[in-house]
Amino acid sequence: MGFPADMSATADRLSEIVQSCNVCPRQCYVDRTTGETGFCEAGIKAQIASAGPHFGEESPLVGTRGSGTVFFSRCNLGCVFCQNAEISHRAGKSVSTHELADLFLTLQQSGCHNLNLVTPTPHLHAIISALIHAGKQGFDLPVVYNSSGFESPEVIELLNGVVDIYMPDIKSFDTKWCLKYLKTQSYPAAALATLKACYDQCGNLKTDSSGNAINGIIVRHLVMPNMTEDTKSIIDHVAEICGQNVYLNLMDQYRPCFQAGQYPEISRSISSKEWTDAVEYAVSLGLTRGLKRRFKTLDKRT
Ligand code: SF4
Repeated sequence: MGFPADMSATADRLSEIVQSCNVCPRQCYVDRTTGETGFCEAGIKAQIASAGPHFGEESPLVGTRGSGTVFFSRCNLGCVFCQNAEISHRAGKSVSTHELADLFLTLQQSGCHNLNLVTPTPHLHAIISALIHAGKQGFDLPVVYNSSGFESPEVIELLNGVVDIYMPDIKSFDTKWCLKYLKTQSYPAAALATLKACYDQCGNLKTDSSGNAINGIIVRHLVMPNMTEDTKSIIDHVAEICGQNVYLNLMDQYRPCFQAGQYPEISRSISSKEWTDAVEYAVSLGLTRGLKRRFKTLDKRT
């Protein structure tokens, strides 16, 4: 994207926001600069769980040399079925802005096609400062914002010109379901607004001549047990907002992880029928870009 971009205004605003934190729609209003923590338990320094070239992402991100992925700790959403709880909900390694900038540069030097920020939202103030530092040292990879879609409109606006590829993972548009399993009933409205804002900002996914992502939106949705109608509603909204050329990754790998065993409705993997219904519905609306009709995980199971 041509770093260094002028991101100082974005960094300044995010530094203000964390003093009464409403980085995300939880709106905890805690002063993270004094050691207070909100729902996500993130401090003022960024916390990372792991980082490195990742080959399990969507093919336009992986290319031949991998997606330079940084897994941040302290997710702001808090799904009871989190598929990544070891990473998202535990304390990670606290890193300074300069250490984070060095990490971004190392991923670039190792040949990664992009910088893939996973669960970045609570750490955005530190990430932007690190991008400024890295940009001064030649960092210029496309930046991927890989989140749950639980964002505030102001934050998405602040990221205009910083993020190249948005990757919201849309969980559900069912308010009662979200209250029970995501611990917030504001998720559906927030995720819908995020989807629209990201699409308006960068449009559908564009790739270079090698098929590697340059900018645009990749929409993810993890198909869940007993949620076929909700999945169809999500696909409807994605089609309406982004059109038929959207890159939509329906995912079949749901497992009853973390606290899911306490909830009978989600304490199993999805069935073949639930998967087929989701895929066929997407196909019926013409949403085939990014769609994997036969996922390996389900093939192994059936
Ligand atoms: S980022 Fe964390 S502290 Fe800030 S509003 Fe969201 S959940 Fe609360």
